[in-house]
Amino acid sequence: MNNLEEGKKGTEGGPEAEQCAMAAYAMEGVAAAALRSVTLRVQQAAERSSRQSDRVRVVAVSKTKPVSLIRQVYDAGHRCFGENYVQEIVEKAPQLPEDIEWHFIGNLQSNKVKPLLAGVPNLAMVESVDDEKIANHLDRAVGSTGRKPLKVLVQVNTSGEASKYGIEPSGCVELVKHVSLGCPNLEFCGLMTIGMLDYTSTPENFKTLSNCRSEVCKALGITEEQCELSMGMSGDFELAIELGSTNVRIGSTIFGPREYTKKNTN
Ligand SMILES: *Cc1c(COP(=O)(O)O)cnc(C)c1O
Repeated sequence: MNNLEEGKKGTEGGPEAEQCAMAAYAMEGVAAAALRSVTLRVQQAAERSSRQSDRVRVVAVSKTKPVSLIRQVYDAGHRCFGENYVQEIVEKAPQLPEDIEWHFIGNLQSNKVKPLLAGVPNLAMVESVDDEKIANHLDRAVGSTGRKPLKVLVQVNTSGEASKYGIEPSGCVELVKHVSLGCPNLEFCGLMTIGMLDYTSTPENFKTLSNCRSEVCKALGITEEQCELSMGMSGDFELAIELGSTNVRIGSTIFGPREYTKKNTN
C-alpha cells in the first residue's frame, strides 16, 4: 500500500526489534511524512465529495505509541490526537504541549471519568458516550471541575454485532436527546462509529451512521452541519469522507503498525 506497510515487517522479532523500528521511525521523520500524506489524501477525498477539507478533522490516534513520536507529529504542525485508554492518556498528556486537543475515543468506565478529566485538562472531546449512565457521570464530573462544557459524540454500534460498545441505531435519538437536553455540562456534537468488532468498517456501517444523523437532526431540529460524523480509520478514511465523515481517526497510517493489533487480526 505504501512504505509504511513495508515498515511493518521490521517490527517482527520481539520487543528489541520493535524498539529499533520505533527509533528509526522517529529519526527519519516517517510519522511527520505520513501525516503530510494523510492530510493530502483527506483533502483529495473532500474535494471528490465537493466538500471543504477544512471541514474534516484528522484525529491522530497515538495509542501504544511513545511521547517522542507524538511530539514529532506535533512538531509537524498537528494538534489533534486521540487515545483509547485512560491510563495511557493521563500518562502522556502532561508530557506534551497544552495546546493539543485530546480526543478520548475508547470505552469509558464510570470510575475512570474523574481521573480522565483531572489528568487531561486539555481534553477536547469524548467520542465514545454510549449510554445514559456514562453521560450522567461525565456531566456531573465536568460540572464539578468547573471546566468549560465538554464536547461529546454518541457512539453507535452500526454493525449489529453483539458488542458492549455503542448504542443500537434504534436507541440513538433517545440517547442524543438525553445528552443534549439532560446534561448541561456536555455539548452534543455528533455521532461516532467504529464499524465491525474487528475494527474494520463497511460502507453499510457508514450509511447507517449517516441515517442516524438524519433522525437525530429531525428529532432535535438541528441542521446536519450541527451534527458531526466520526467515522473512518486508516483503512477506509477516504471512503468515509466521501460518505460524509467530518472526523477521521487515523492511527497506524500515521504512526506505523501497533504490535498488539497483530494478535487481534491474525
Ligand atoms: C485504534 C483506533 C483507531 C485507529 O485505527 P487505525 O486503523 O490504526 O487507523 C480509530 N478509532 C478507534 C476507536 C480506535 O480504537
